[in-house]
Amino acid sequence: MTLSAVPAWQFSSPQGEEHYRAARRRYPAQAIVDLKALRDNMRHLVNVCGGPDSGTAVMGVVKADAYGHGLLPTALAALAGGATWLGTAQSHEALLLRRLGIGPDRCHILTWVYNGAEVPFDELIDNDIDVSVGSLPGIDAVAAAARRLGKTARVHVKVDSGFGRNGFTEESFDEALARLAPLAREGVLHIVGQWSHLAVADSPDVPEFVASTDRQIENFKAFTARMEKAGIAPEIRHLANTAATLNRPEIHFELTRPGIGLYGYEPDPAMGTPRDWHLKSAMTLQAQLGTVKDVAAGHGISYGRTYLTPDDTSTAIVPLGYADGIHRSASGFDMQGAKHLEKLGGPVRVMTTEGPRLYRVSGRVCMDQFMIDLHGSAERLGVHEGDTVELFGPGRGELFSEPTADDWARAADTISYEVFTCLRNRIPRLYLNASDVLDSADLAMLDPDTIL
Ligand SMILES: *Cc1c(COP(=O)(O)O)cnc(C)c1O
Repeated sequence: MTLSAVPAWQFSSPQGEEHYRAARRRYPAQAIVDLKALRDNMRHLVNVCGGPDSGTAVMGVVKADAYGHGLLPTALAALAGGATWLGTAQSHEALLLRRLGIGPDRCHILTWVYNGAEVPFDELIDNDIDVSVGSLPGIDAVAAAARRLGKTARVHVKVDSGFGRNGFTEESFDEALARLAPLAREGVLHIVGQWSHLAVADSPDVPEFVASTDRQIENFKAFTARMEKAGIAPEIRHLANTAATLNRPEIHFELTRPGIGLYGYEPDPAMGTPRDWHLKSAMTLQAQLGTVKDVAAGHGISYGRTYLTPDDTSTAIVPLGYADGIHRSASGFDMQGAKHLEKLGGPVRVMTTEGPRLYRVSGRVCMDQFMIDLHGSAERLGVHEGDTVELFGPGRGELFSEPTADDWARAADTISYEVFTCLRNRIPRLYLNASDVLDSADLAMLDPDTIL
């Protein structure tokens, strides 16, 4: 008998169950993504912005393969939840969404990171994808592509309201306006939007950061006034990421751009837990244990012998390593004796005959695996090779001792965003509740092998 630390997944059909088995044979770890959670999170974010008719639209930010959740299934779930925009950083993902069948009749797509010299503006304009411009070479390149195609480009003017990343600065803005205004009059460019990004909206507990966000908002409005004066008033303005969508309703403007909230996480643990914001984590990362064996006290575990077993015990292999995106910095150290060194590794939920237990990475994370010290006899605990363990899941509350991506982020000294986006694509992504969330046309767009 094998034990499982994850919920009994509800398959939509016998084929769904067969897909699950096949994925487990293919790879000893799986990322299970609940499309209903994604849809419901988006629905909630739309409601936070006043509902579908409020005048504030919501963009599902699906950059970086939808924060590792899978670009297309996530995009479709976001649309099912009421998003009317999708956003990607890289242009190839915006193009991919159109190529996979999400047409301009369905939603707007905005893409923003590029170098003015080499981005495929022709293809983007041709595919009705909105582009961001935040530099003079960017303006020139978009305009040249639009002229070549004989088609107006839809652009969003990026301003640097204080983030210090992309966008026109206050000083460079006159020159940008002087270039943009005639292109807009001529119909080469359609100035759809004005936008910017916030640096510290996720720290409502730090007065200094609240003041800094206030300054960014004032700057943003000053840029709007300058665009109006130049005769290119933006139709829509957008500034709010998840944090500001949740806690700064006064800057929802005509569009908000939540990312991490769609995936069910709060932007920063300082904001509380996802539960506080009525969000539900969509991804569960699970794995099937490799070798489980007894070892004596004082046994070194993994490279560098940074973990020595404190007692006679059993260890188990979790077949995920840094080549899967498990941070090596989530290694766990415990050197017994004189050179006492302790650091908590990333958490793993293991089901035992005594109920669920939370263990920690013991020793260094390797390329394809890491070890956990079960602090007891595997035989007595009922833990076996092939048991399913959970690295993180929806965080169903204290009773479940269920780790979250935030717990892994803490162990690895990073943020949940990086935990998700580092997960390599060799880990199968499998989708729950697809037929509840998507209509049959959308369902047919998914890779059938990924539907549970
Ligand atoms: C990633 C990103 C977002 C979404 O941020 P979250 O904190 O995940 O909500 C919004 N806007 C831009 C420009 C981004 O790069």
